[in-house]
Amino acid sequence: MSALYLRNARFVDWRTNAIVCTDLKVEMGPGGTTTPVDEFPAGAEAIDCAGMIVTRAFANGHHHIYSALARGMPPPQRSPESFKDILELIWWNLDKKLDMEMIRASAMVTGIEAARCGCTFIVDHHASPGAPAGSLHVIAEALDEVGVSHLLCYELSDRDGAEALEAGFEETDAYLKGRQGLVGVHASFTVCDATLERAVALARGYGTGIHIHVAEAESDEEDCRARFGRSVAQRLADAGALELPRTILAHCLHLDDVEREIVAGSAAWVVHNTQSNANNAVGRFDPRGLGERIFIGTDGMHSDMLSATGAMYLEGQSMGGCGGCGGLTPADACRRLRRVHEYLEMNGIAGDGENNLVILDYPSPTPVTQDNWAAHVVYGMTGAHVHSVISQGALIVRDRHLTTVDEERVFAHEHEQAMRLWKLL
Ligand SMILES: [Zn+2]
Repeated sequence: MSALYLRNARFVDWRTNAIVCTDLKVEMGPGGTTTPVDEFPAGAEAIDCAGMIVTRAFANGHHHIYSALARGMPPPQRSPESFKDILELIWWNLDKKLDMEMIRASAMVTGIEAARCGCTFIVDHHASPGAPAGSLHVIAEALDEVGVSHLLCYELSDRDGAEALEAGFEETDAYLKGRQGLVGVHASFTVCDATLERAVALARGYGTGIHIHVAEAESDEEDCRARFGRSVAQRLADAGALELPRTILAHCLHLDDVEREIVAGSAAWVVHNTQSNANNAVGRFDPRGLGERIFIGTDGMHSDMLSATGAMYLEGQSMGGCGGCGGLTPADACRRLRRVHEYLEMNGIAGDGENNLVILDYPSPTPVTQDNWAAHVVYGMTGAHVHSVISQGALIVRDRHLTTVDEERVFAHEHEQAMRLWKLL
């Protein structure tokens, strides 16, 4: 297995935060490892990391690549007055207008932004009812070109009628035949029992899980109790979705105590999206009673996992550290940033291994030690400190620039696609 070498690294172990000064050998390819070495082979390619920190690259637990063209777009026809309004006036208006060229541009630019921020794995939830067939393959190929690994799904929903739903099932099935992925479901309030049951059966058939928005707004719970006579978590449990260890429940903001017990006692994972929750004014995340299987996503807001971790930490502080429902320590926040690696590893998902590394140019005003590493993560670091990035042993970002694609060309094309989309909104 060929390898890349890092000289003079301050290497932070992502599990223990232990720091050693060492040279490193990074094996290339899937399943490669990173190990300290005493000397390099003659003529080996080596990157000098003097003065920089090297640690495991980040992974994003919940993203929406399809929203990449939304930043700065014209406002909706009227101001949204509810979460449902936000979906109907903004996101369900936008996603219907996406064509394949826009989808590809969104994936290229999101991959580049993620890579520049040290993120080498994206769990994405995609919707493009105007262009469903082949959309996941287009996203996968774009991310592959950038060098960012992925776990994709297509959003199944009854919201656009039977034909669109059928197209969603077809796209999911076609994609899962050849690639690792999940079965996406929008949310309880946009799927009937038949759709939900069919989605779970499909996930089970491919040995994978469901990726769904859960109780993001109170209205999801109200709808579920009115139409199905039970809570969202109970409905998902009854459908068998929570038995699947790859299942991801995004948000989980409005769960009651019984639902928390259901989720904690299940095989499913929860993903927390602080900045998106704030943006949509849907409430704040309370982790109490949900167990430890919680990781972090950006929900389409951006691709900087360090920024997301800092925001989550501050949200926890603002909710009261002493007996309140926040009480996150920096170490807790760091563990939640890293929990996604356990989800991916435990479920045998490829692309996020020990040879995924971020090299941080982080000139700290204070010493960085094993004991205070987590505080530097939540108070000091952002994606702007990312200098270089290694994905499956390949150097994809060198000195803040992609080595795999022409960023200027991609961004120029992205701007054209954004202007084209905005005219249609
Ligand atoms: Zn989402």
